[in-house]
Amino acid sequence: MREIRGIAASPGTASAPAFLFYEEEEPNVPSYLIEPGDIPAEWARFVAATGRAKEEVALLRDKALAEAGQEQAAIFEAHLLMLDDPEVIDRIRHDLDQTHRNTERLVLDLERDLVEKLSSIQDPYVQERISDVHDVSRRIMGHLLKKERFCLADISVDSILVARDLLPSDMISMNRAHIKAVVTEAGGRTSHAAILARAFQIPAVLGVGPDVASLHSGTILIVDGNRGLVISDPDQAALDRAAAAVTAQSEKDSELEMLRDLPASTVDGTQIQLKANIEIPDEMAAVLSHGPDGIGLFRSEFLFLGGHVPGEEEQFNAYRTVIEGMKGKPVTIRTLDIGGDKVLPELGAQDEKNPLLGWRAIRFCLSRTDIFKTQLRALLRAAVFGDTRIMFPMISTADELDRARGLLEEARSECRSRGHAVPARIPVGIMVEVPSAALSSDILARTADFFSIGTNDLIQYTMAVDRGNEKVSYLHEPFHPAVLRLIKLTIENAAIAGIPVGICGEMAADPAAAVLLAGMGMSELSMSCVAIPAVKRAIRSLSIVTAREIATTVMKMQSSGEVAAYLSARVRV
Ligand code: PEP
Ligand code: MG
Repeated sequence: MREIRGIAASPGTASAPAFLFYEEEEPNVPSYLIEPGDIPAEWARFVAATGRAKEEVALLRDKALAEAGQEQAAIFEAHLLMLDDPEVIDRIRHDLDQTHRNTERLVLDLERDLVEKLSSIQDPYVQERISDVHDVSRRIMGHLLKKERFCLADISVDSILVARDLLPSDMISMNRAHIKAVVTEAGGRTSHAAILARAFQIPAVLGVGPDVASLHSGTILIVDGNRGLVISDPDQAALDRAAAAVTAQSEKDSELEMLRDLPASTVDGTQIQLKANIEIPDEMAAVLSHGPDGIGLFRSEFLFLGGHVPGEEEQFNAYRTVIEGMKGKPVTIRTLDIGGDKVLPELGAQDEKNPLLGWRAIRFCLSRTDIFKTQLRALLRAAVFGDTRIMFPMISTADELDRARGLLEEARSECRSRGHAVPARIPVGIMVEVPSAALSSDILARTADFFSIGTNDLIQYTMAVDRGNEKVSYLHEPFHPAVLRLIKLTIENAAIAGIPVGICGEMAADPAAAVLLAGMGMSELSMSCVAIPAVKRAIRSLSIVTAREIATTVMKMQSSGEVAAYLSARVRV
C-alpha cells in the first residue's frame, strides 16, 4: 500500500484498477486491461495494424529498389519477414489471451525482450538488427495508435484513468460510464480537466507530479477527491474506509438535496441567484436535479471539442435544447472560447509560443468572423426559445466589445434575410477575466449589458500563474488582495452603471468565498451544479449584514492565508 498526494480537484471517492493513458516508461503508449469479451476485437485491431504496416513496408521496399538498389531493398524485405514471423504473431496472441493487456503494450514488451536478447550477442550484424526491431515495432505501434490514440472512448471496464495530463477534448471523449476517477501528473483546481471532472461528477486528484510514475496499470487504486489522496494497492481496511466515505457522501448529498427547491436567501431576505455552469447539453439532467436559478455559463466551445466542428444547425439545436430545458429561466451562453489549453487545430489555431496570452477566445473570433458569425446566427435563432443572454469571453478592450456587437448585428440581419425569427433585443455581456477589463470596467460598463467575472483566468493573469501548472498552483489564489481588489472594483463599476454583475469562475463554488462575494455586492454566482447545495446552505446561514461586515473586514487583510483562516472561522460550510 502506498499513498500519494495531489490537488483535490473533484470531490468523491472511488476505487478501481488503474488505466494508464501512457505506458510507464514510454510516454504516449497506453497500457490497460481488455474485457474478456473484447479480446477478439483487440486481436482484430492488431491484425489490421500489422496488415497496414506490411503494405507500408512493401511500398518502401519497392521505392528502395527503384531508387537505391537491391541491398537497401533487402532491409525492408527483412522487416516484412519480421512482420510475418509466426513466432512474433503467436507470442502476441498468447500474451493477449493470458494477460488481457492491450496490444500496444504487448508489442512494446516484445520489442523490449527482443532488444534485450539481441544486445547480449556480441556480433555487429546482430547489433544492427536492434534498430530493425525498433523500426518494425514502432511501425505497428504507429498504426495501433493512429486509430486509437484517443482510445478513452473505448474504455469498457471500470477504471481509474491515470495520465500525465488530460486535455479538455480527452475529458469530453472519454467513456464516462466506466471512468470512476481521474489522476494526473499535471493540472490544477481550475484547469479544464478539473472543471470537467466536477461537472461530470468524477472524483479527481490532479497535479500529483512525478509520483504518477509509481502507479502501474491494473493496480487497484483508491482516489479520494476530497482530500487529494491516491492510495495504490490498498489493504482491506483502506478499502472499507473508502466504502464508508462513499456512503457518508451519499447521506450528506441527500441532506443537501432537501434545500433544492428553497431560494438562496440570506436570513434577512437578500436573494442571491445561484446558477449552473455547463459544458455540454448532456449535463442538463444533472443540472436540473440541483435546482439552479438558470445557466450562468454555457461553455459553448466544448461543442467543438468533441471531435468535429459543429455547423449552424447543430449548434442551433444544442443551444435550443439547453434554453428550452431551462423552461424560462435565464441561460447565458458564452461564445467560442478556444485557444490556451482548448486547442482546436481544425479551426486553424496554430502552435503559439504563449498560447494563454495569444490567439484565444474573442481575439480568435474577431479574426475568424466566418466561424464566429455562424455561432452568432445559431445563438440568435435559439434565443427565441427562452430567456437568453450572450457573453463574450476574454474581452480586454472596449473596442473588442464594439466589434463583437457589430458582428452580432450582421448575424442578426443575415438570420432575418434567411427568414429566421430572432429576438428584437438580447442582453450582451462580457467576461471580466483579464486585469485590463477589471481595471477599465467603468468604460466597459457603458456598452456591456452585464459582467460575469471569470476568476479562473482573472487569477491566472493577475498572478501570472498558469492555472494548469501544478508547480505554481500555490499562486492561483482567489483570496489574494490583488484579486479581491479587482473583483471589488468591477462590482463597484457595475453598480455605478446599473448593470448586473456575477461570477462564473470556480471561486463561486467555494461556500466561504460565495458568502464573501455576496457581501461584496455580487448578485449572481454561477458554478458547477454539484456545488450549488453547499453554497446555498452557506448563504442561507447568515444575514447580508453579516456578509457585508465579513467583506469589509476581508478587504483590509494582507494575505490570502489570513482571509482563508478568517472565512473558515466565520462561515458555516
Ligand atoms: C474563468 O476563466 O473563470 C471562466 C469561468 O472561464 P474558463 O474556466 O472556461 O476559462
Ligand atoms: Mg476563462
